[in-house]
Amino acid sequence: MSLYQRACRVIPGGVNSPVRAFGSVGGEPVFIARASGPYLYDTDGREYVDAVGSWGPALLGHAHPEVVAAVQAAAARGLSFGAPTAAEVELAEAVRVRVPAAAKVRFVSTGTEACMTAVRLARGATGRDLIIKFAGCYHGHSDGLLAAAGSGVATQGLPGSAGVTEATAAQTIVVPYNDLHALAAALEAYAGRIAAVITEPAAANMGVVPPRPGFNALLRRLTSDVGALLIYDEVLTGFRVGPSGWWGLEQSGGERSNAAPGDTRPMPAPDLFTFGKVVGGGMPLAAIGGRAEVMDLLAPLGPVYQAGTLSGNPLATAAGITTLALADAAVYARVDEVSAALQAAIGEALSHAGVPHLVQAAGSLFTVFFGDFSGPVHDYAIAQTQDSAAFARFFHAMLDAGVALPPSGYEAWFLSAAHDDAALNRIVEALPGAAAAAGGAR
Ligand SMILES: *Cc1c(COP(=O)(O)O)cnc(C)c1O
Repeated sequence: MSLYQRACRVIPGGVNSPVRAFGSVGGEPVFIARASGPYLYDTDGREYVDAVGSWGPALLGHAHPEVVAAVQAAAARGLSFGAPTAAEVELAEAVRVRVPAAAKVRFVSTGTEACMTAVRLARGATGRDLIIKFAGCYHGHSDGLLAAAGSGVATQGLPGSAGVTEATAAQTIVVPYNDLHALAAALEAYAGRIAAVITEPAAANMGVVPPRPGFNALLRRLTSDVGALLIYDEVLTGFRVGPSGWWGLEQSGGERSNAAPGDTRPMPAPDLFTFGKVVGGGMPLAAIGGRAEVMDLLAPLGPVYQAGTLSGNPLATAAGITTLALADAAVYARVDEVSAALQAAIGEALSHAGVPHLVQAAGSLFTVFFGDFSGPVHDYAIAQTQDSAAFARFFHAMLDAGVALPPSGYEAWFLSAAHDDAALNRIVEALPGAAAAAGGAR
């Protein structure tokens, strides 16, 4: 019996998170025994160049020796105390240095918790009930945020989730991404009732779909005008696309997506941020950060309750502190460089094989959309027109050649600073064969 068959007997679908199953590409998921730098090793000892990076956290590559040493040292001092520690203060300070608009920070264990708490906080702050989210954005699996969600929900082709009450679903208004007219119409239709708009400031869970120029700036203005909070969900982009995430790119002017044409003013900050993935360095850790007046509404100072037995635990904070300390300019430069080289090589291989496609990027994150697109993919409806069968052929050919991609066309490729030229070349060498497979050649 394979490990997968054994897993299926004791774990629903054999996996503990649906995106890990090969649902949309077919076949059995690969079970991983260990990982190092840019490489994964399966339970049969096969080596793969990894482009999943644990779905984001592995910015420095897997099992970075300094991160592992910090976690080991922390483990020797005790796994969890249920009492405050110096490391939590240090990590909160490190987050605030990178994202000054996150004046106060609360740590939790998952991005799901962070987004759920941000929404509760927005409701507590405004006394309003409704939230607006964008179709195709993923904000974790809390009830109110599963409507038209990206990531695994998109991969499985589900409209949302069973088990969410109608009453809960009715409190989430879903609007197409990048559609300011629809947003303005929703804000008007529910005037005075919107607590918050939550967005991925560069969407990466419906495939990578960057904001149109000016979209985020107008989003900020419209939410301020109606007294709704703006929540930037940077669980995926935070500390990955740059030292302080997408917000940092917008602030530095390196990413002009914030500015309407000709507008060079710095954009006002969102009220709240959520972080996860990289900030925990591969351990279960996530965060909510934002304006002090809003954050101070959290218990024990304020009336908005939130708690966690393992929140800010010593192992996770050790991994987070060390990861952020090591994630210097050279790390981001290398990830950008590997990403750009790969995007070019993918485009070349697919064009050469005559496979219609579109490579779309936001910072170092990118997705290959298979299919004939007349323009950019700027929302979920267009992303859903991609040719998933071509992606599945491409995916399996890459896997056979020893390259592990995210097993869904709705996900970004995640690279790391540990992807040296040898690892990069192995991906590039696998591309022509996979391009031919995507085109249908045997
Ligand atoms: C991964 C992700 C989440 C959920 O985080 P978990 O740690 O998986 O709960 C939320 N928002 C975004 C944008 C994500 O990419």
